Amino acid sequence: MTAETLAGPQTHAFEADVARLLHLMVHSVYSDRDVFLRELISNAADACEKLRYEAIAAPALLGDDPAPRITIALDARERRLTLEDNGIGMSEAEMGETLGTIARSGTRAFLDRLGAAKEAEGAQLIGQFGVGFYSAFMVADKVEVFSRRAGSDEAAVWSSDGLGTYALGPVDATEAPARGTRIVLHLMADAADYAEPHTIRRIVKAQSGHVPVPITLVEQPGAEASEIADGTALWTRPRAGITPAEYEDFYRSIAGQFDAPALSLHYRAEGRYEYNVLVFVPETRPFDLFDPDRKGRIKLYVRRVFITDEAQLLPRYLRFLRGLVDSADLPLNMSREMIQDSPILATIQKGLTSRVLSELEKTAKDDPEKYAKIWDNFGAVLKEGLYEDFERRETLLGLARFKTTASAGAWRSLADYVAAMRENQTAIYYATGTDIDRIAASPQLEGYRARGIEVLLLPDQVDAFWVTAGLDLEGKPFKSVTQGAADLALVPLADGAEPPKAESSAEITGFLAFVRDALGDAVSEVRASDRLTDSAVCLVAPEGGLDKQLEKLLAGAGQLPATARPVLEVNPAHPQVTRLAALAEDDPLRGDAPHLLLDEARIADGEALPDPRGFAARMARLVARIAQA
Ligand code: ADP
Ligand code: MG
Repeated sequence: MTAETLAGPQTHAFEADVARLLHLMVHSVYSDRDVFLRELISNAADACEKLRYEAIAAPALLGDDPAPRITIALDARERRLTLEDNGIGMSEAEMGETLGTIARSGTRAFLDRLGAAKEAEGAQLIGQFGVGFYSAFMVADKVEVFSRRAGSDEAAVWSSDGLGTYALGPVDATEAPARGTRIVLHLMADAADYAEPHTIRRIVKAQSGHVPVPITLVEQPGAEASEIADGTALWTRPRAGITPAEYEDFYRSIAGQFDAPALSLHYRAEGRYEYNVLVFVPETRPFDLFDPDRKGRIKLYVRRVFITDEAQLLPRYLRFLRGLVDSADLPLNMSREMIQDSPILATIQKGLTSRVLSELEKTAKDDPEKYAKIWDNFGAVLKEGLYEDFERRETLLGLARFKTTASAGAWRSLADYVAAMRENQTAIYYATGTDIDRIAASPQLEGYRARGIEVLLLPDQVDAFWVTAGLDLEGKPFKSVTQGAADLALVPLADGAEPPKAESSAEITGFLAFVRDALGDAVSEVRASDRLTDSAVCLVAPEGGLDKQLEKLLAGAGQLPATARPVLEVNPAHPQVTRLAALAEDDPLRGDAPHLLLDEARIADGEALPDPRGFAARMARLVARIAQA
């Protein structure tokens, strides 16, 4: 094909999201522009690994150039940086798809966060969200991409100034690499430094020293290429020779994050199957931690060939780990779908899971402070294992940490809890909600406090689920303080005083019956409470029903038609109650009292009132009466 027969490049508008992303990229992410190089190198390395994988089935794709390679060529005079790989390459159609749109689901979240983020956070976000390629526009005012797909004679060029449009069209094959992709960055004046060899050496060493493809540098036009990274896979080297800084760099490049690992685990398994593991617990929460698909991000290699990052190598409750597994036993020519069902993978998953959990146990024991930070970040995810992984629930209960009514903001283990249990205490008590401080202020906790009984405060969504999974610890079941009768009578008060008698005067008993009749279907029961000291009333869920918090969650998710009717518990010793009970039969306040009590309990629970006008009217009558007296 000659130049004349080729149609000229066509101009296309970027998808709206890309345009917005580029705008933000150029205008707000100036703090750490070095990351663009890591992103381009990581794409080039991915392209080499994809080719290695496709060449297993079609070795001809490698032709006479089998060794993967990334070359960076600099031209300081022209202010130009060129990055070339001999990987899989892209067809013209592929370039249009991948370099003009944003396919990834996390991108919407990225854009929102980037818009709101301070400049310093912006660069961090790029790495976390993997919008890598476009970061080239942080340093270049024109980017050209020449590419040729492996096995194809046709080449194409994509170019853009990052201002809303790009041009895409075929290009004479002699202008493109024989295979793979060449990216030419025309650097902005204030980014001229990126055409300097020492800058590039420094960045590659810091960010990409351990990509599994060798990187060479051509310092200026016509100069000899010299190797600046050797492409040895870090995970195949013996642990003793690897420095913490090397692990940290590797973590950043494989995880696409800018923090440091909180925990590194590197070992070689040599049982029935052989595999290398190098995984990390991040120091901060990855952005996609609570994505609904709950996907893991551990990469699978087979004898150093990257296979997939879709394999489920860890259970979902360990999805916050980053890193890779390199198996010696999986066949290279197995389809990715079949790999997932392979018994070898199942064995690896089992071994890796146990190993990760025992590493966490070890950290919890040897370095509680470090473990507390890990739990801060990932506890809510680990707790999913309590109802998803029954085989390991004891281990997971052992790893779990809680804020409690006795912990003063620190994490407590269940072993701590059990050791502090009161005489005659029959259960491990918990209260769920959305906010620790609000849970801690619930009236339902008063009777437990008065008896010195510790209550676990559970603020995470996941808590509503695992507590109902029938777990117990040393025979003590988990029991909600907002559900069923409180059975506290047997536990003495903390100051040694006699607990108030729940059995009360005939007047109170009669009043409770009156309240029950007046409230009708709004409640399932009205009863005297032994869980209240300072408050007059509270709501609890009936025995055997759903916990109130879980009920709210399910109702919110549309999975529950109507909430079950709650129990109204009344504190028979509270002056508000004794005085209302003593009102004359024909006192107009008596008719309002049951509704006022119920609404008071609802408000204490942070619930919306079903009849706010009715409440306001009763309140107005009450205030008028007090003012008159
Ligand atoms: P990601 O790497 O997370 O997919 P990027 O924005 O870095 O996102 O890249 C977008 C896509 O562009 C890649 O998924 C890949 O399909 C394509 N791409 C980018 N650089 C190259 C390259 N050097 N060779 C082949 N394909 C590439
Ligand atoms: Mg990328």
